[in-house]
Amino acid sequence: MSSTDVERVIVIGAGPAGMATSHALGKIGVASVILEQEARIGEPWRRRHKNITLNTHRNFSAMPGLAFPKGTPAFPGRDAVVDHLMAFGKHHRLPIEYGVTVDTISREDGLWAVRANGAKRLARDVVVATGRDKHPYMPEWKGAKEFGGRLIHAADFGQANDYAGKSVLVIGAGNSGFDLLNHLIRAKTGQLWLAARNGPSILPKRIANVAVHMFSPVTNALPNWLADAVVGTTQRLMWGDMTRYGMPKAPGGGVSRLRSDYTAIAADDGAMNAIKAGRIKVVPTVREFRPDGAVVLDDGQTIRPDVTIAGTGYRTGLDGLVGEYGVLDERGFPLVNGSDHPNAPGLWFLGMRPNLRGCFYAAVQQAGEIAKGISRSRRL
Ligand SMILES: Cc1cc2nc3c(=O)[nH]c(=O)nc-3n(C[C@H](O)[C@H](O)[C@H](O)COP(=O)(O)OP(=O)(O)OC[C@H]3O[C@@H](n4cnc5c(N)ncnc54)[C@H](O)[C@@H]3O)c2cc1C
Repeated sequence: MSSTDVERVIVIGAGPAGMATSHALGKIGVASVILEQEARIGEPWRRRHKNITLNTHRNFSAMPGLAFPKGTPAFPGRDAVVDHLMAFGKHHRLPIEYGVTVDTISREDGLWAVRANGAKRLARDVVVATGRDKHPYMPEWKGAKEFGGRLIHAADFGQANDYAGKSVLVIGAGNSGFDLLNHLIRAKTGQLWLAARNGPSILPKRIANVAVHMFSPVTNALPNWLADAVVGTTQRLMWGDMTRYGMPKAPGGGVSRLRSDYTAIAADDGAMNAIKAGRIKVVPTVREFRPDGAVVLDDGQTIRPDVTIAGTGYRTGLDGLVGEYGVLDERGFPLVNGSDHPNAPGLWFLGMRPNLRGCFYAAVQQAGEIAKGISRSRRL
């Protein structure tokens, strides 16, 4: 093989993380190519539900050097996010190859071999920017396969008005669960239930019209114990003791959990007060689904929602791609983020963990760090 067959850097994924990396590499004169399985930029965001808005402020969710257009709300909606990503890709004429799905990445003679669309490509460095929310994750609940009711994942929510007149059970008091409830309370649904095993760490999106996320740089700079106290105290001051409404306690401090087991802090836009007002009833977690459409809860009580929505998170799907290098934890999340792992030098990961300042913001920072790491590396 001649050295010209070896690409310098292959970036996998043309989401915010992959595009920011290619852009950062370009700025320091390192050529890269982005392989994107879809036919256009922003497909994961196009697939998200119609009502979704960012939980992170627009100023902390923008691609490098490109502000959201004037008039964009503090928390941009889905279409504004897609337009922003498209504008970034177009403005920088990023080297994206569309319709190229990477199936495996393996080590070959000190290089990385990327197999995509039936062909092998070699690179000195490979950046994995395939997103931490790639595959909707549903636990294997007893009876779920034979369940007579409708059970879907939050990824298939549609829009809140689809649930008019229907009773809805949302499983999981995390980021996804609260996102759905924030929208469902504004539609003319029937009874809403929230099945919670753990109580949330949750912050309001706004306090007196001020976007709370604007303070995230300060909270993010604090040690865990102090950041946990700030989040916990804000939560208590906003809503008081929610155990009175059946909500379990959170299993630990919100920031500690975000940094150790990657549980994002949820954002409230009305759902917590709807719980207090009885619009949403908090119930124990699900024990079993029945063929007759009944859902049995952990305390033995049975409910019959028209629709059950699992707000149970996502997985990276990286096991098949890089599983053999010992760089993933037991849930398939990379052990490193914003760098490469000693087991696999030259195989870089980013965008794989939640961050108090937001995933967009973190991805842009990590892209810069990875670009520097690649330029310093002797593999070039
Ligand atoms: C419901 C929801 C709400 C969110 N809200 C926020 C928010 O408010 N603020 C925030 O900062 N973050 C939010 N996030 C996280 C959000 O997904 C990220 O901020 C951002 O989209 C992640 O960018 P990324 O580039 O890492 O991944 P993605 O945007 O997922 O992009 C990954 C790209 O890689 C491509 N790809 C994947 N596998 C392959 C392959 N094998 N071969 C080729 N291409 C591949 C995909 O097609 C995709 O284009 C949210 C996530 C979810 C699920």
